[in-house]
Amino acid sequence: MRDKRFYDFVHRQIPVFIMLSLLPGLGYLFLGWLNGIFTPAFVWYLMVIAGSIWGVTLYRNFDFDSMSEYRRNRWYRHCSGFFYAFFLLWALIFLLYVGQEAANLHYIAIFTEIGASVVASSLLSSDRRLYRPTLYILMAPLIVYFFLIGEWYGYVLSLFAGTLTWVLLYAANSSNQLLMQATYQATHDALTGLHNRQYFIEHLQKRMNTLAESGQFSFLLLIDLDHFKTVNDSLGHDIGDQLLRNVVARLQQHVPEGCLTARLGGDEFIITGRDCVDREICEREALALSEQLIARLKETYVVGPHHLYISASIGVSIISASSVNANRFIKEADIAMYEVKAKGRDGVFMFNDEMSRRVEKHLEIERLLHFALANDEITLHYQPQLDHRGRVMGAESLVRWNNAELGAVPPARFIPIAEQTGLIVELGMHILETGFRTLREWHEAGIELDQFSINISMRQFTHQHFVAQVTQLMQRYLDAGLARKLVFEITESIVAEDIHRVIDVMNQLRASGIRFSMDDFGTGYSSLSNLNRLPLDEIKIDRSFVGALDQNEGHRAMVVTILNMASILKLNIVAEGVETVEQLDFLLGHDCRIFQGYFHSRPLTQDAFAQFYRERALAPAVAE
Ligand code: C2E
Ligand code: MG
Ligand code: MG
Repeated sequence: MRDKRFYDFVHRQIPVFIMLSLLPGLGYLFLGWLNGIFTPAFVWYLMVIAGSIWGVTLYRNFDFDSMSEYRRNRWYRHCSGFFYAFFLLWALIFLLYVGQEAANLHYIAIFTEIGASVVASSLLSSDRRLYRPTLYILMAPLIVYFFLIGEWYGYVLSLFAGTLTWVLLYAANSSNQLLMQATYQATHDALTGLHNRQYFIEHLQKRMNTLAESGQFSFLLLIDLDHFKTVNDSLGHDIGDQLLRNVVARLQQHVPEGCLTARLGGDEFIITGRDCVDREICEREALALSEQLIARLKETYVVGPHHLYISASIGVSIISASSVNANRFIKEADIAMYEVKAKGRDGVFMFNDEMSRRVEKHLEIERLLHFALANDEITLHYQPQLDHRGRVMGAESLVRWNNAELGAVPPARFIPIAEQTGLIVELGMHILETGFRTLREWHEAGIELDQFSINISMRQFTHQHFVAQVTQLMQRYLDAGLARKLVFEITESIVAEDIHRVIDVMNQLRASGIRFSMDDFGTGYSSLSNLNRLPLDEIKIDRSFVGALDQNEGHRAMVVTILNMASILKLNIVAEGVETVEQLDFLLGHDCRIFQGYFHSRPLTQDAFAQFYRERALAPAVAE
């Protein structure tokens, strides 16, 4: 279980050893000269220098991130050789000095041996295979030396030396255990015992280096459990944890040998495959394994009294020799996994270039959107809403973004990105402020509307300062009369939020006169009972229903049902996307009273809207 920290530890010891040998070595050279054994001491020192040069080369050749597993193992073997060689040299100088007559040389040799043993037991504690033989190499000659004195004190010292060897081994074992424990904790996930994200990224980087050398391929599977949060939220974290352990047990049963499984966090797991020579084989193997895993994961789990069912979404990316880093491949698998989620979960997707382009584009939009407000690129257009007599009774504000690089970006494209990045809060405030200002300017110019609609994104609506900020803007731009014209359009996704809080926010805003409209009605998946709990004033029939009116009876029946329901619930109804006179006639014939769509007008600039309003005011009203 050698991770980056292990290698770094060993790597750091190399210069320490070199310094600990080169400098004191000079002293031994000097002593050798004093005692007439200069030549052997000099030869010994030359060997120390040669060993040091070897050490420097080893030190320089180490680069964890770019080394393949094979090269790293080879490097480590050489490194071990270097350490053995160094301690062997110290054992040699011991033998050389104790072979002399002068007693002072013996004292120095004994101290050298003990000193070197202490160094070995502390600095080499990361690997048993390093410190154990080294300690034997160093201490055995000392024990024998004392023993050979042949006197009682010699036997005692020999015993002491033996005891010291045991103590040093014990100390090194303890440090080794602590180090192993720390390494285990740093590289494993406590709940499942699988490797963790950090270890996995290091491992992947190693694999990539190996693939770069062999030119082969491998794959990554990123597995995300579907609706795991529901289990956690409804049955508690204990059950959630047990379920995760069961999932891991199944993964481990099915993942072939040579693959590595890790937990990235939460309910996300990742697997690297085996090496394949051919990309196509690799893709096939990845898909086959994914299908197998999904099938196995979907079998019922029995956790305590619960019988649980869970499916999984798997994103696949193919790893090949390339210059990108490990995170990039994980990101690719992640993108593919999100594609599965977006397409209804419970399936597999392989990352491809088209996804890659989409993500690049997404990132570019995200980057440029950050400057859009400051660069004054965001404007509002207003689409007229007309009543059954053809009078312009309202307007919906629709945001527009014109960027020098990207051109006109449709809101359906950038609003979701603004929501994901949180930028919607600032952007939404800008939209509100611009809208409020327009409403007041129109009022001052004699343009009186019954209602003025603004789209509110969920993320913006649920932001903690939303009510306070809206109130502040209203005080700045609107009087009570104008405030009563405001309609906030929300979408059915709101019911996925904390419904009590949503109702509370809506009621606070209603107290200032703001009304609420359910936009794109009929396209979401909200239940009628939930909708009925919301204090709504208006429903907007989604343009997909209106557009399909000409097509078949089913759609017509659907629109009629929505219109009837709105009338029972006493809600205003706006038909969106009215494009043809037939659609208008049909809706008029079924008591729909407000229309918005290209048939009357596309969204207009502030001035163009004012002009449209005036022209319509002059036109004779259509008889009811
Ligand atoms: P929405 O609120 O349902 O807005 C109506 C969309 O339908 C607008 O698209 C409008 O231009 C388009 N439309 C109107 N009449 C017709 C028609 O007759 N035929 C067709 N085919 N389309 C018609 P747009 O401006 O591209 O906006 C798309 C969506 O982006 C909006 O849907 C809304 O959900 C969101 N959006 C727009 N402005 C804002 C905003 O200021 N804030 C937030 N949060 N979302 C906005
Ligand atoms: Mg709308
Ligand atoms: Mg709509």
